[in-house]
Amino acid sequence: MPAECVVCGRDDAALCPACTAVLRRETCSPYRAEQFADALMSVFGHTMLPVVAVGDYRDTLALAILAFKNHGRTELGPPLGRALAGGIAALPRRLPGLEGQRVLLVPVPSTGSGWRRRGYDPVALMLGAVDRERRLPPGMAVAPVLAIRPRLPWRRHHQKGLGRAARRSNVRNSMRIRRRRMGGIRPAMPLAGFAVVIVDDVLTTGSTVREAARTLEEAGAVVCGALVLAAARAPDKGAPGRPF
Ligand SMILES: [Zn+2]
Repeated sequence: MPAECVVCGRDDAALCPACTAVLRRETCSPYRAEQFADALMSVFGHTMLPVVAVGDYRDTLALAILAFKNHGRTELGPPLGRALAGGIAALPRRLPGLEGQRVLLVPVPSTGSGWRRRGYDPVALMLGAVDRERRLPPGMAVAPVLAIRPRLPWRRHHQKGLGRAARRSNVRNSMRIRRRRMGGIRPAMPLAGFAVVIVDDVLTTGSTVREAARTLEEAGAVVCGALVLAAARAPDKGAPGRPF
């Protein structure tokens, strides 16, 4: 099927070879990113939840994520999954407490409205591609044990456009542990004995991964940190912000 590259517009694959090479460069050195997310740092500047980011949320990586998440370009699941796999491989070096552990990667679930709008769950789709291409290191497994809790209609707000405190209270109690069996994993039960790493696409304030960690810890999980495909750095924190 003919397609055009989501980054440069050339008639080619969803991501042309040149843009694939750029994407690879932008995602080749995963780094610790919690200091860019207000909700993950204490007032004293201590890390509350360590996060590894595969790249910055700008340029090619940002365009690819936007096309994948918001414009139905699901063909980008495999190339973005490959970038994510690089971050997964880097986890034991970047997060304390993972060495020698059996690790469960838990995707942050898509909100109900997100699901309805696009018909797929971007993070689960990427992790699925990683798993299918056998790019998970030994001792790691994907465990989609989190689900979105249906919201009371008057409490539904979009995260976008909300301030820091409002975002935090908006995500509070927004997730639950799945009761249904999924992907061969019996929810809740297998969390003991594993080191859990939460996986999300974009890190902004960090309130979503923090709420995911809270929900998992309440169920008895040992959460060692999170992995995101891209971190949005605020301009006042030393790097160019979003491209748009
Ligand atoms: Zn291109």
